[in-house]
Amino acid sequence: MSSLFPALTGAPADRPALRFGDRSLTYGELGAACGALAARIGGAGRVAVWATPELETAVAVVAALQAGVAAVPLNPKSGEKELGHIMSDSAPSAVLAAPGDELPAPLGDLERIDVDVRAAGPHPDPQVSDEDPALVVYTSGTTGPPKGAVIPRRAITTTLDALADAWQWTADDTLVHGLPLFHVHGLVLGILGPLRRGGSVRHLGRFGTRGVARELNDGATMVFGVPTMYHRIAEALPEEPELAKALGRARLLVSGSAALPVHDHERITAATGQRVVERYGMTETLMNTSVRADGEARAGTVGVPLPGVELRLVEEDGTPITSYDGETVGEIQVRGANLFTEYLNRPDATAAAFTPDGWFRTGDMAVRDPDGYVRIVGRKATDLIKSGGYKIGAGEIENALLEHPGVREAAVTGEPDADLGERIVAWVVPEDPQSPPATEELADHVARRLAPHKRPRVVHHLSALPRNDMGKIMKRALRHD
Ligand code: ATP
Ligand code: MG
Repeated sequence: MSSLFPALTGAPADRPALRFGDRSLTYGELGAACGALAARIGGAGRVAVWATPELETAVAVVAALQAGVAAVPLNPKSGEKELGHIMSDSAPSAVLAAPGDELPAPLGDLERIDVDVRAAGPHPDPQVSDEDPALVVYTSGTTGPPKGAVIPRRAITTTLDALADAWQWTADDTLVHGLPLFHVHGLVLGILGPLRRGGSVRHLGRFGTRGVARELNDGATMVFGVPTMYHRIAEALPEEPELAKALGRARLLVSGSAALPVHDHERITAATGQRVVERYGMTETLMNTSVRADGEARAGTVGVPLPGVELRLVEEDGTPITSYDGETVGEIQVRGANLFTEYLNRPDATAAAFTPDGWFRTGDMAVRDPDGYVRIVGRKATDLIKSGGYKIGAGEIENALLEHPGVREAAVTGEPDADLGERIVAWVVPEDPQSPPATEELADHVARRLAPHKRPRVVHHLSALPRNDMGKIMKRALRHD
């Protein structure tokens, strides 16, 4: 197949590729380092990568792809139990890590290969096919234990080229990156994406609003973030006038991995004049939809299907919804070359995830505006509340609660109710813990904005919401409290 990264051989050798803190590599240096590492790991079935937010992680993954070896990125913050599970599930033959990184017990028996970002070797030329596995990425574990999604090379090139089309993404773009490197967002979009285009990446190590402003002032053009980052930006804007100016210079701000609260989006637009482009994807499907760089901005939507992605909404009995009325809720199903091959060692889960005619059941529920824009309502398993004969999405209630001045963070769930089937429960982090808004007040606030049957019946106050490494709210943890 054609190379995943034509720029590794085709771009000028002195073109900047990656920068992490004060360490950086040009395309020439990156190609050489990956060549040297690929020669060491070539022929391995799978390698694990200790995926710290460092240069070594990017070099390790790109080298594995260059060598035709599947990479399994590991979250260094995982507990030993989760790492032990991933090790036995994915059975890598070696682990790639930065020199000096300490590896925990479950990795003890594996061959360790230190990544030398200054090494030099020739470009490898392995026999690979488009269908060969490129990555095994474990899902975020938001709704259950993480599953290993086997992602073929073809899915990566398909999704990155579709995003290039939607975002007008070119070699002139420089990305400000503050995401972890063990999920699709930070790794496939944030590292492999710029390298496939021949552009460059500046990783902040740790996300911070000052770092974002500094890089945008220094010529960076794009920011990829999760909603918690945009929330921090929205909160910081009134106090950091420099940040508003810097964001105003960006070519593209992108949010994904979870729903971007409308309130945060609106505050950012008001202060900077910029919209935030939302895209929707999954470990299993890579990217499905996005607002296009040349398309209309609309807060609260994830835009339209990317080129090559077939997307439909289906009713509970499997009937496709054919009218786009902005109201009829259905499960999102997708088909296309962006899809994964299987869940590793889980033929049961793989079979259950597809319809007989090959559509992937995302488990996400949505409506479509009359012009096709997709609005995600929430996850089937946790965000769809069946109350008083209505199907109510948690997301719109969360958005309404966040517009209340006394609410800092909000999550909504359903719990069994003798009369209603389920009742709406709000979990709120108040702005001022000393005087949280009263239940009646929040219920009326939601009823006025949405509809009376969408009012929360119970409100719990918390000091923080339980979130995973991607900032996603773990609703399982809320239910079991
Ligand atoms: P697990 O599958 O282990 O429970 P997860 O679904 O959170 O975890 P990922 O594959 O990282 O693991 O996340 C994909 C999910 O993230 C999607 O199914 C969707 O629910 C959510 N998501 C991604 N982007 C968006 C978005 N822009 N708006 C709303 N939800 C989103
Ligand atoms: Mg999932």
